[in-house]
Formats: sequence, structure tokens, C-alpha cells
Amino acid sequence: MTSCIFCKIVEGSIPGEKVYEDEHVIAFMDIMPVTKGHVLLIPKTHRENLYELTEEEASNLFKVAPKIANALKEEFQPVGLNLLQNNGSFAGQSVFHFHMHFIPRYDKSDGFQ
Ligand code: 5GP
Ligand code: ZN
Repeated sequence: MTSCIFCKIVEGSIPGEKVYEDEHVIAFMDIMPVTKGHVLLIPKTHRENLYELTEEEASNLFKVAPKIANALKEEFQPVGLNLLQNNGSFAGQSVFHFHMHFIPRYDKSDGFQ
């Protein structure tokens, strides 16, 4: 049995608020969102970080990135969006299953940083 929390979300053994899924990847809401609409995109296969991804796996993830960005744009109407990805604890990685953060940004006057 896996101890990886994101593998458990892929398997469905712990809940995840999924917003996109295909054969290779899933996207779900971050449990501690930095801003409204913070989404994580991961490969279904366990890969610790960017160093471990095959070209095909990277391509499967990036193929979906514009879809997610556009869905967030439509749903939340942010004024910008950060795509972030941390590799290694010194770089801020805390879950060691590759993931890309989609962080919509809002005008400060909206009350969402
Ligand atoms: P990192 O710091 O590794 O780049 O980001 C890990 C992210 O995973 C954090 O933003 C954190 O809030 C999120 N996270 C950690 N555990 C869970 C979980 O069980 N469910 C969900 N949906 N997100 C999680
Ligand atoms: Zn995993």
C-alpha cells in the first residue's frame, strides 16, 4: 500500500476535489489554497519530481495546463495566474509526488491575494 498522499487521491482511497481527469493525469483543488481556485495537476503514475518525469509524462501534463488555466479564468475571473512547481525540500516541495500549482491571482481590492 502506498504512503503517498497524492497516490491515495489518484486511487480514491482519500478524498480529493477533482476538477479534471484523463488516462494520465488528474487535477484537484489544493487543500490549503493560497488563493481562491488553487489547483494541483499531477501525473497518475508516482514520480517524485521533475527529474523523474519522462518526456511523454511531461507532455501529458503540459497538454492539459492551458485547459486548466482557461477553466480557472472562466470560473473565477482572476487578473493573473501563477504556474509553480517545486523540486526538493529546499525548493519548498512538501509532497514528493510531482505536482504543478495553478494559483489564480486577484486584484487586492477583491480581498483575495
Ligand atoms: P509543495 O509545497 O510540495 O509544492 O505543495 C504541496 C501542496 O499540496 C500544498 O499546497 C498543500 O496544501 C497541498 N496538499 C498537501 N496535502 C494535501 C491533501 O491531502 N489534499 C490536497 N488536495 N492537497 C494537499
Ligand atoms: Zn505518489
